[in-house]
Amino acid sequence: QTIKYASELSDEHGESPFSRALDELKAERGVKQDTELTALDLEQLVQTYKGIVERVALRSFPEDPMEQLRGAISAVFGSWNNERAIAYRAMNDIPGDWGTAVSVCTMVFGNMGATSGTGVAFTRDPATGEKRFYGEYLMNAQGEDVVAGLRTPEPIERLKESSPKAWKELLRIQKRLEDHYRDMQDLEFTIEDGKLYMLQCRTGKRTGFAAVRIATDLVRERKISKEEALMRIDPEALNQLLQPVFQRAELEKAKRAGRLLTQGLNAGPGAAAGRIYFSAEAAEAHAAKGEDVLLVRTETSPEDIKGMQAAKGILTARGGMTSHAALVARQMGKVCVAGVSDLAIDYKTRSLRVRDQRFVEGDWMSLDGTTGAVYEGQIATAPSEVTSAILGGKRRRAEGEVFSAYKRLMGWADEVRQLRVRTNADQPDQCQTAVAFGAEGVGLCRTEHMFFGPGKIEAVREMILAESSEAREAALARLLPLQRKDFEGIFKAMGDLPVTIRTLDPPLHEFLPHEDSAIQAVARDLGVRPARIKQKVAQLSELNPMLGHRGCRLGITYPEITRMQARAIFEAACRVAKRGKVTPRPEVMIPLISTREELQQQGKIMREVAEQVFEEQGLRLKFMIGTMIELPRAALTAGDIAKEAEFFSFGTNDLTQTTFGISRDDAGKFVPAYRQLDIFPEDPFSSIDVAGVGKLMQLATMDGKASRPDLKLGICGEHGGEPKSIRFCHELGLAYVSCSPYRIPIARLAAAQAALRARH
Ligand code: PEP
Ligand code: MG
Repeated sequence: QTIKYASELSDEHGESPFSRALDELKAERGVKQDTELTALDLEQLVQTYKGIVERVALRSFPEDPMEQLRGAISAVFGSWNNERAIAYRAMNDIPGDWGTAVSVCTMVFGNMGATSGTGVAFTRDPATGEKRFYGEYLMNAQGEDVVAGLRTPEPIERLKESSPKAWKELLRIQKRLEDHYRDMQDLEFTIEDGKLYMLQCRTGKRTGFAAVRIATDLVRERKISKEEALMRIDPEALNQLLQPVFQRAELEKAKRAGRLLTQGLNAGPGAAAGRIYFSAEAAEAHAAKGEDVLLVRTETSPEDIKGMQAAKGILTARGGMTSHAALVARQMGKVCVAGVSDLAIDYKTRSLRVRDQRFVEGDWMSLDGTTGAVYEGQIATAPSEVTSAILGGKRRRAEGEVFSAYKRLMGWADEVRQLRVRTNADQPDQCQTAVAFGAEGVGLCRTEHMFFGPGKIEAVREMILAESSEAREAALARLLPLQRKDFEGIFKAMGDLPVTIRTLDPPLHEFLPHEDSAIQAVARDLGVRPARIKQKVAQLSELNPMLGHRGCRLGITYPEITRMQARAIFEAACRVAKRGKVTPRPEVMIPLISTREELQQQGKIMREVAEQVFEEQGLRLKFMIGTMIELPRAALTAGDIAKEAEFFSFGTNDLTQTTFGISRDDAGKFVPAYRQLDIFPEDPFSSIDVAGVGKLMQLATMDGKASRPDLKLGICGEHGGEPKSIRFCHELGLAYVSCSPYRIPIARLAAAQAALRARH
């Protein structure tokens, strides 16, 4: 206990009184290295240390060796519950009740002169995975000296000259340890007077790059099976292979300089640096000038889409893992840090504050969307080898080691997985990216995302502002060819693969401008009075838009919208089919159904329009009509709903929202606190809440299949790209998961792991 409390008595800079005393003594003596202190100096230091113990523990340092040993052991056990350990466990999903162990052994000394030393090594390179013995050491030193950074350690190969016998033995032992554990090992050793002692060995931590390379190399070396290789890689680690990364040295420099500003949710992985702008327009304008841009918003809305597209990264103060910013960013493959609660944005002065620091428009910031860290200033990034190989087209670089290892691993994953992997995409380029990453169809095309394209939003607004059904029909007629063209692009990109297109989902007020200046501009464009738009906005505004006039409720009250969308879908499919190269497979999906009658009504419109179009085009295509299951009532009455639906796709974003009664856009305010208090073991918007939401899914699956045995089942909520949720979907027997394009490789690996786990 004595030792535990004293060592944890750090000052505000995190320095312990023991290292302070040592530093002070070295300063007094005018020396840099511990080894430069004399025996007399050390004797004095011991006295100072004893004084510290006495001051903190209110007792003298124990002289009985057994008591010292017990103290040391209990200090290690105590360390299980220090803040750092608790934070580490939270980050790595390690349960707190596992506890720790202590090994006691005799001490050897690396600081007994020129023939002694100590070092740390890895049996393979932990950064790249390359098969080479890698590490560093210091002669006449203890472990502390290697990590303290006062003396620069030597690369491990030099040991060959400074201690040839120990080197030879170390080489032999490292190989034996790796062969025994069949994985890359992290070793610590000490040489005492020329004799080598191994201190410890454990499976080494590694980057995502190294994880893939090492696992595939070990298969090639016949040390592990393909299945083991697949199981060893954390699917999330594949993110590193796909996204731009910070250049390591630059990142270290930024961290050392204290440039880490704050932390938010790691909503869209990768690294991005850019100048900050506070509106979509400004982001777009500056990106057009060739600037690297970060879009900073309190939260984003569909109006921000173009700014998001133009930005390298997106930073928001509010919103959770399924907020608009998070899901759109992931779909676009953008870096995103969301829900940074200590970010105060002032749109008026175009500035933001993080605690006492202020930043204005045009200042540089860097976002790490993989960890959620936000840095001030610019940190240089580098592109990913795998993405350039997959998406590079003509500029494709020569295939490097990382890409060939990645390809091998993905091939094995595809051999064992049973779940199909589709993508959530609503633009032809997103579809192409997704197919390149291995998508086997579109699981969700959110048609409203297409409404914001050039020339479209005006027609959408005209439709919303229409006073009569005729005026609305006229606006819809303008929208029809535009939507049809979008769908053609998607069908073309997806070829013979299935494409699930969802009818309009969000409440209509999302398409109208809200700020005065935007209202004025839109009024000018449409030739109406600004007051008219304000009135319409007021009329459409709802207290709970997420639970309001949205989803199929729109198509039911404005059937002409469903009719236009149906026509656009089927005409596009026929046009693409007529070109002869591919046969589109549309699957039309109706959102936010809670009763069978809703689906029946919308399905009837769909089938009627399909029939008309097929007659007109002289062509017949197979298609399906299904529904999302995203409301508890739909799950509870799934047997009945399945009579009308050829497929179900679980919309777990809304299903989580409505099962918990937690607004997905406001979750960021308190879910992190729930996580910290362990009230939520996980953010239910990231990983499926198996006990509640999962139970509803299970019920819907069972009842749905009972009433329609060939019912096709999938998931298109954000959970469809999260490994634990994918495992649950496999166990549930779903046919596919659907996720954003850049998560497809992760989903393929997670699906393979789920299949392998189920075998054992
Ligand atoms: C869902 O609710 O899970 C879903 C996919 O739909 P959206 O996120 O568009 O509401
Ligand atoms: Mg939904």
